[in-house]
Amino acid sequence: MQKFNIAIDGPAGAGKSTVARMVAGALGFIYVDTGGMYRAVTWKVLQEGLNPEQTADVIAVARRLEIELQPRPDGQQVWVDGVDVTKWIRSAEVNGYVSKIASIGEVRQILVTKQKRLATAKGVVMDGRDIGTQVLPDAELKIFLTASVHKRAERRFKEMQDGGDRDATLQQLEQDIARRDQMDQEREISPLVRADDALLIDSTTMSIPEVVDAILGLCRDKAGGGK
Ligand code: C5P
Repeated sequence: MQKFNIAIDGPAGAGKSTVARMVAGALGFIYVDTGGMYRAVTWKVLQEGLNPEQTADVIAVARRLEIELQPRPDGQQVWVDGVDVTKWIRSAEVNGYVSKIASIGEVRQILVTKQKRLATAKGVVMDGRDIGTQVLPDAELKIFLTASVHKRAERRFKEMQDGGDRDATLQQLEQDIARRDQMDQEREISPLVRADDALLIDSTTMSIPEVVDAILGLCRDKAGGGK
């Protein structure tokens, strides 16, 4: 299939990363998880003992930090200044500050520039909050993937339990997701909104393979082979 770009946006826990990774795998495209980049900046800020409320310090970190994304069959590895931080950027502490840091305009500018660069050669499946609106407004296919807050919390809970992480309760996850939704939707710069030309998929009652199949069907249609 000829290379093109796919933008997948939506709220936290809608299954974007799993779906994007599987779609990329099926098409032989590269998966880029932009949330991992905001998480990487957040992790570095915390690791350096800086105050995430000190905007100037956060911007300085975003500017000097070297983020490397390595696509792997089981997901994307994130390296910060030569250190593999893939696991650490999913911590509750990073979850707690990432939306705050992602609301800083200069941080977004720095990361969006990197993200646009990653997609210039096409053949990228990129997931985030502003991909269809800001990062890849010309993406050939745009999806807005959502699901109910309860369903999203349930999925994240199961994921964490399966990974041996039993710290959070379902109720805590539901609250965390609702709080991040609100911050992402209400921020002034690049809020989470569905692009006018994005196709809405509500996965509340769909399985991940069903969502992947639906998107691959849309890709075949795009490529002109959708019979
Ligand atoms: O997708 P993930 O949950 O890992 O993203 C973490 C946070 O990063 C989101 O809650 C959001 O605040 C921010 N983000 C963003 N724009 C993106 C990707 C993520 O603001 N493109």
